[in-house]
Amino acid sequence: MTELGSRLRSGDRRALAQAITLAESTRSEHRLQAEALLVELLPFTGGSQRVALSGPPGAGKSSLVDALGAQAIARGKRVAVLAIDPASLETGGSLLGDAVRMQQLAAVEQAFVRASSNAGTLGGTAPATREAILLCEAAGFELVLIETVGVGQAEQAVRDVCDTLLVLTLAGGGDEVQALKRGLLEVADAVLVNKTDGAGEASALAFAAELGSALALLRPRSEPHVAAVSALSGLGVVELLAWLDARYRAEQGSGQLAARRQRQLERAFRTAISRELLEHARSEPRARELLPELQRAVADGRLLPTAAARQLATSLFGAEA
Ligand code: GDP
Repeated sequence: MTELGSRLRSGDRRALAQAITLAESTRSEHRLQAEALLVELLPFTGGSQRVALSGPPGAGKSSLVDALGAQAIARGKRVAVLAIDPASLETGGSLLGDAVRMQQLAAVEQAFVRASSNAGTLGGTAPATREAILLCEAAGFELVLIETVGVGQAEQAVRDVCDTLLVLTLAGGGDEVQALKRGLLEVADAVLVNKTDGAGEASALAFAAELGSALALLRPRSEPHVAAVSALSGLGVVELLAWLDARYRAEQGSGQLAARRQRQLERAFRTAISRELLEHARSEPRARELLPELQRAVADGRLLPTAAARQLATSLFGAEA
C-alpha cells in the first residue's frame, strides 16, 4: 500500500484531507493518483451510513450537523462531515462559516470536517463527493454527513451518493411553499422542521404536523419521516439518530441498501461514460469542427438534439450502430 494509503487507513485526518484534495483536483496527474489510491482503498469502503442534509440557507444545516455529529460521537462513532457547495467558486465562500459553526465537531478527534466548492473539479460534483465518501470510509468514519444547500439540482446529485436524504425546512416565511415547489420534499427520506424552540416552538410543531399530513397524501407509498427538531436545544436530535440507525439496519437486512448503492454505481458509470465520450469528442479534430455546427443547428431548431448527437457519434465511430 502507498504511504498516503496506509496513513489514511490508520485514521490520519491530514492524510484524508490530502486524499480528498487529490480527488477534487483539476489536474489529470492528480486524478490518476486519486484513482490509484481509491483502487487500493476500495476493499475498506462501504461501511458507513451516508446521510445527506439539504435545505435553504439559514435553515440551520450546519447547526444540526454539529448537534447530530456530536451526539453520534457521544455514542462512540467517528463522524465525517462533507459540506458541498454546489455554487461556483465566485459565489462560494459561505462555507468558510460552516466550519466555524460546527464548533463541537471542529474540536474533537473523532470528527473530520471538510468544506468543498466542487466547481471546476475534473469529474464534477457528484463523482468528487462519491470519492470523498469512500475515502472517509477507508479512514474509519462510520457516519458521513453530506451537507448541501438546497438550490434544486444539487439534491439530485447528492441523492445519487447518499443512503438517506434529510431535508431541513422552517415554519413560516413562505419557505414551505418554496420547498414544495423545488420538489425537495418529494425526494426526501425525512423532512425536519428546525428551530422548534423559544418563540417559534408552537408554530414549528403545528407546521410539522401539517407537513406530515400533506406528505402522507402526496406520497402515500413512500411517506417520509417528518419530525420537529431544534439544533439549538437538541430537541429531536437523539430521536433522529435513532431513526437513522434503525433505517440503516433495516435496509442492510433487507438488501435495500446494497441495491440502492448498486443503482447509484450504475448511474455513475453511465454519467462517466457520457462525460468521457464528450471529452474525447472535443479533442478529436473532426468532431471538434462538427460540434459547434451541430450546436448551432440544434439552437436554431434545424436539428433535433437526438439527431445531432447521432451525427456526432457517426462522425466519431463511423457507421450507425
Ligand atoms: P445553514 O445556513 O442552513 O447552515 O444554517 P446555520 O446552521 O448557519 O444557522 C443559521 C442561523 O440559524 C444561525 O444564526 C443559527 O444560530 C440559527 N439556528 C440554527 N439552528 C437553530 C435552532 O434550532 N433554533 C434557533 N432558534 N436558531 C437556530
